[in-house]
Amino acid sequence: MSWNIAAHDWAVQILQNHMRSGNTRHAYLFVGPQGIGRRTISLRFIQALNCLNPPAVGEFCGECRVCRQISQMQHPDLFIGEAETPGGTLKIDTVREIQHSLSLQPYEARWRVALLLRFEEANQNAQNALLKTLEEPPENVKMILTASMENALLPTIISRCEVIRLRPMPLADLQKVLVDEWNADEEHAWRIAHLAAGRVGFAVNLLQNTEKADAILDTAREGLELLMQNTRQRFRFAENFKDVRKRADLRNIIQIWQSLFRDLLLLSTNGDASSELPLTFVDLKFDLLEMAGKVSSERFLFVLNQINHSMDYLDANVNLQLLTENLLLDWPSLK
Ligand SMILES: [Zn+2]
Repeated sequence: MSWNIAAHDWAVQILQNHMRSGNTRHAYLFVGPQGIGRRTISLRFIQALNCLNPPAVGEFCGECRVCRQISQMQHPDLFIGEAETPGGTLKIDTVREIQHSLSLQPYEARWRVALLLRFEEANQNAQNALLKTLEEPPENVKMILTASMENALLPTIISRCEVIRLRPMPLADLQKVLVDEWNADEEHAWRIAHLAAGRVGFAVNLLQNTEKADAILDTAREGLELLMQNTRQRFRFAENFKDVRKRADLRNIIQIWQSLFRDLLLLSTNGDASSELPLTFVDLKFDLLEMAGKVSSERFLFVLNQINHSMDYLDANVNLQLLTENLLLDWPSLK
């Protein structure tokens, strides 16, 4: 079975070359934005390392018990470590648990593998603890980390990993992958490629979960409505986040606002001159264009920066309602 990751062909080549030359590193770090396919390529790699009937070195069958268990992340020699929820904190206890499991002999596979997902969410203690294993890895162990950005990781961790940086695909290429490999129709593939901003994993996810794509569009539309509302109405919206348990919801919404204001900025700077603008919300182009003409691009840039900053505050223990109110106060009123 081929790895079937057209988007990251070059990365697959690197990993297969390591395997063919018998020169695999003991630690790999896959870096790239969420939804780009970091976990998928990690799991394919682990399958290739441990498949019972590989058709060739660097390949995997996809059908043996080990391949199937790994693809479901349920193999006894595969240890997954991650924060409880995306956006949460990966704690030292999780790292210690995995270190203990790694110190035992493999249950049946050639390699025991620790897969640490979204490692940018690991706190300082957890990162320091992992460093020990990276410095003196046990035999028969592979460490695989994924992260959305390198600057949240200790430099000593990065330097001990083979770093593989995954990039979004050009939208036209992603559209072609969705049509050729996932049987999407051309127009739908075009919309999804934009909505996923070139991230192939996210695009496939949206293709398979149409409600999810709809929900994202609804949130973007709600953002446009907020732009037309007055302060009182916006504060009423902020009341949705009285409850601290809404942190993950608010994070999703703010991420969608980031894309929304990026679109507004693109249109405000470029106008409608180019139909090739890499907008996220092509479905809303008409409304976006109208809004983009109402204030300067500097203002949109200012709001976009505020939104980016608010993502940092979100990680700290702030009052979510207050954060939302402050953010919305900066938005122009475009009624
Ligand atoms: Zn197999």
